[in-house]
Amino acid sequence: MRLVLLGAPGAGKGTLAKQLSTALGVVHISTGDIFREEVAAGSELGRKAKAYMDRGELVPDEVVIGMVKQRLARPDCKPGFILDGFPRTVPQAEALDAFLQAQQMPLDAVLDIEVPEEVVVRRLSGRRVCRTCGAIYHVDNKPPKQEGICDLDQGELYQREDDQPEAIRRRLRVYAEATAPLADYYRQQGLLRPVDGTGSPEEVLALALRLLKG
Ligand code: AMP
Repeated sequence: MRLVLLGAPGAGKGTLAKQLSTALGVVHISTGDIFREEVAAGSELGRKAKAYMDRGELVPDEVVIGMVKQRLARPDCKPGFILDGFPRTVPQAEALDAFLQAQQMPLDAVLDIEVPEEVVVRRLSGRRVCRTCGAIYHVDNKPPKQEGICDLDQGELYQREDDQPEAIRRRLRVYAEATAPLADYYRQQGLLRPVDGTGSPEEVLALALRLLKG
C-alpha cells in the first residue's frame, strides 16, 4: 500500500505513520526524521536544512524532492510506503506524482488527519522526543515512566527546537499557506480520506484502518 499522510504539525502524522507501518508492513518515510538524522550526523544536507528547520520554515523544494526520490528508489519501498511530512507544497506533490507515475507506483490513498488548532498547539508544546530512537512522548498525555528518559531504550528525551512557541506559530502559518492546499489537490484526484485525529492514538489508528479497508 502506498500512502501519504497530511495534517498540521502536531496532528499526529508521525504517531499514526509508525503504527500503520507496523500494521501494513510497509516502510515509514518521514522527511522531518531524515532531516533530523542528517543534522545530527553533521552532513552537508543537514547543514542546508538546519536553519530552515529551527525557524519553522520549509526546506527548499528542490532539496526535499531530490532526497525523497532517492529514498523511494530503494528496494524496501517496492511493497509500499507511508510518506509522513511529504509532500508539503503543491510543487512537491506534482514532483511526487511524476516520479510515481514513471515508476508505475500510483498512490492508493491520502489520509488527511484533522485536529483543531488549539489541540495541535497543546500537543506540540508538550511533545518530547527520544534523541536515539525517535519515540514520541507528551508531558501530560503520554509521559515516560521516568522523566526525561525514553521507556524503550533509555535515550535522552528532548524538546525539538521547532516546538518552541514562536516556531510553532510560524509552522502553523506555513502549513495553512503552503500545505493546506494539498487537500484540494488530492481531493480532485479522488484520493483524499479525512480522518478525525482528536482521539487517542489507538482510536485514530482504528479509524484509519477502517477507511483504508472500506
Ligand atoms: P516534521 O518533523 O515533519 O514536522 O518536519 C520538521 C521540519 O523539517 C519542517 O518544519 C521543515 O523545516 C522540514 N521539512 C520536513 N519535511 C519537509 C518538506 N516536505 N518540505 C520542506 N521542509 C520539510
